[in-house]
Amino acid sequence: MIYLDHAATTKTAPEVVEAMLPYFTECYGNAGSIYKLGNESRMAVIRAKETIAGTLGAEANEIYFTSGGTESDNWALKAVYEACRDKGRHIITSKIEHHAVLHTCEYLEKQGAEVTYLDVDGDGLVDVEQLKRAIRPDTILISIMYANNEIGTIQPIKEIGEIAAAHGILFHTDAVQAYGQLPIDVAACHIDLLSTSGHKFNGPKGVGFLYISKKAKIRSFMHGGQQERGRRAGTENVPGIVGLEAAVRRVYCSVEEAECVCNLEEEKNAERERILRDYLISQIEEKIPEAMLNGHRTKRLPGNVNFSFPGVEGESVLIMLDMQGICASSGSACTSGSIDPSHVLLAIGRSPEEARSAIRLTLGAENTKEEMDIVVGELARIVGKIRESRL
Ligand SMILES: *Cc1c(COP(=O)(O)O)cnc(C)c1O
Repeated sequence: MIYLDHAATTKTAPEVVEAMLPYFTECYGNAGSIYKLGNESRMAVIRAKETIAGTLGAEANEIYFTSGGTESDNWALKAVYEACRDKGRHIITSKIEHHAVLHTCEYLEKQGAEVTYLDVDGDGLVDVEQLKRAIRPDTILISIMYANNEIGTIQPIKEIGEIAAAHGILFHTDAVQAYGQLPIDVAACHIDLLSTSGHKFNGPKGVGFLYISKKAKIRSFMHGGQQERGRRAGTENVPGIVGLEAAVRRVYCSVEEAECVCNLEEEKNAERERILRDYLISQIEEKIPEAMLNGHRTKRLPGNVNFSFPGVEGESVLIMLDMQGICASSGSACTSGSIDPSHVLLAIGRSPEEARSAIRLTLGAENTKEEMDIVVGELARIVGKIRESRL
């Protein structure tokens, strides 16, 4: 099997599983309990917050554990809307956000919010001039994703953050694809809220965190006990949180150092992935006629490759790739099975037909150059065969 769908999810790393296991068996205490067994769980949660905060240049009490990217996005948007209703009801986002943001915006519109959906250019980049023009006195939130899950385009986050800060507007970024892949500095980028998810970078599924800056005075999401400083009630998912921390350490921390900064090993991994990505892109462009690269060529996640192959149906290609043991995707895992063409590909100017012909291949640390050659060979054969049958 060749797995090329790392943007959908990743394999839980063995050291992550190993770190989690004791918290299912011996250290099962409730992190809220007084006795020693509970204290061990509590300490594990505190340690995880410290580790994670260190990777972002944040403070431990600005990290809130959640069930993943979707919950983090929902919390950020709904809670800011609630907290800032006195100031205004206007939210700015982009047309290429993940559905966890877009569908939450649609929900908020039903509650009375006004939402501006910014266009992107042909590479998927938000236009910061258009962003500036969209700002109104009643704008309460700018939510722009760090990097796109379908086409990999990395946004000018620092510039956007500076604009938000200059206008006193809260800035949220869905960093689910970026965190664990890129170094992120919340202070330098003026980020007030940041969503992540463990399973996108070899952590467990169903756990992530929302960074909430001390400056952002937003309310609780889950009502109940006093967990997470009263802002997200519910018994902490200690094994998940420990697994998330282990996945973060793998990426951002040197083994011996307590201080987590960007790890050299990971820099090497990302560079290796970039080289493999660019090799795959160049081979597809060389071997498959009329292949159209979707997304920016360089401002792009290290592992993301996305092409449209006019004249073919992406779904058919996926099924034929699967028969050869190759796992790929036509866009986001959440929209597969739906007949609507990708909103991201339409936003970058692809026609509905071109959008439906797209294939996304997302790489991970375990992929090899040999695999890329096999995939390009199969892809060329399949696309050729489908196009021929249509003549
Ligand atoms: C995967 C993903 C999400 C959703 O995260 P879950 O943890 O699966 O809920 C949100 N945003 C982006 C950009 C994603 O890639």
